[in-house]
Amino acid sequence: MQQPELKQSKSDMMDKIVSLCKRRGFIFQSSEIYGGLAATWDYGPFGAELKRNLKEAWWRSNVYERDDIDGLDCAILMRPETWMASGHVSNFEDTLVDCKSCKKRFKIEQITGKKCPECGGELTEPRQFNMMLKTHLGPIEDAASLTYLRPETAQGIFVNFKNVVDSMRRKVPFGVAQIGKSFRNEVTTKSFTFRSREFEQMEIEFFVKPGTDEEWYSRWVDERFNWYVKFGLKAENLRIRQHEKKELAHYAKACTDIEYQFPFGWSELEGIANRADFDLRQHSRLSGKEIDYFDDITNERYVPYVIEPSGGIDRSILAFLFDAYREEKVKDEKRVVLGLHKGLAPLKAAVLPLLRNRPDIVELAHKITDDLKGDLKVRYDDTASIGRLYRRQDEVGTPYCVTVDVDSLADNKVTIRDRDTMKQDRIDVSRVREYLTENLKR
Ligand code: ATP
Repeated sequence: MQQPELKQSKSDMMDKIVSLCKRRGFIFQSSEIYGGLAATWDYGPFGAELKRNLKEAWWRSNVYERDDIDGLDCAILMRPETWMASGHVSNFEDTLVDCKSCKKRFKIEQITGKKCPECGGELTEPRQFNMMLKTHLGPIEDAASLTYLRPETAQGIFVNFKNVVDSMRRKVPFGVAQIGKSFRNEVTTKSFTFRSREFEQMEIEFFVKPGTDEEWYSRWVDERFNWYVKFGLKAENLRIRQHEKKELAHYAKACTDIEYQFPFGWSELEGIANRADFDLRQHSRLSGKEIDYFDDITNERYVPYVIEPSGGIDRSILAFLFDAYREEKVKDEKRVVLGLHKGLAPLKAAVLPLLRNRPDIVELAHKITDDLKGDLKVRYDDTASIGRLYRRQDEVGTPYCVTVDVDSLADNKVTIRDRDTMKQDRIDVSRVREYLTENLKR
């Protein structure tokens, strides 16, 4: 049984999560000691674990538990023609205005009147701004050496379509999954990690026969919605929003966003787009290479359509953190719990000695930690009193605490405390691994 939860206001929630992330080693501002670099973030020790677990969960669900998807890991740098073909060179733009007084920059959608929304100053004429980050390859910085840091991982998959079909003997329908960094020179960068300039995406390009695309599209919307719920997001904090025709990106036949109710409002977590045959045809046109598929059963040759579920790792982490955070009242004290899905939790268990000045207790606790280390991410901690140690583990979402006490020396048993129910079980030392493995699956 969970304890009564204390109500939070939405504005407080943002501050609480930002503060918890810094205090407990989840997320730090990049280059903090130099004053920080806007919209770039470093994942601390627990954040790095959470991120790895999230990626592993996504990869497992899509690559290992299905037999119609392969993984890929493409370079961030690609030939600049890629971005001409994809439309990013000509279309990946925001329209911006600057305030002549306070020098702040706004997207045109943020402006309602003719004046600066912050200081009322005069605004410049709108101008186009391409969001791709540029770089030069080789020793000479000229137009010929210009290239971009990829703004999405998808294009690496499209240009490798033939390679995957040929090397893996794939038959349509099949998909290719990729997780990796993307870069966008975002203008608005508020809301913590939600809109970062360097971020990670988890994308699938699922190739289907034209005519079957609409059915696959709705299957993927359901599939992806259910995935977030499976890993712990409350369904009432998620919604599906279909794009209107005028909102659609230049490549899309249809698009649906899975949105999460962040403290700053409903915002996109993942987009599922029907990209039709836009990308494969474009790459074929610009590269001069034939990119199509031959179905040797029906003897048909065609360019497959693509359904693209495209999610952000950083946005998901933010949503999982908000959704998991709760404050409870326990015996008149506030308890902060990060009720993360056990598969995502950075640590699976903490091993705690009740008395750190008793060498025999400490020794047994170390022995249990060493024993578990190979299989589970566990940590030994004796840096505070037991009450405090429990509170620290609750705050970072550790599902189980294993406590070694004086009685353990006599009966060879330890106490295992459950993060959510705070229920304690007394377990034989030899059964700790089995207990944890079993309960972590639930
Ligand atoms: P938005 O409209 O919020 O800018 P988008 O529609 O441009 O997002 P997509 O191009 O569909 O985003 O990218 C797919 C996913 O990648 C998004 O759903 C989001 O989770 C993630 N993503 C995109 N841009 C960013 C960013 N700047 N920071 C963090 N994640 C991002």
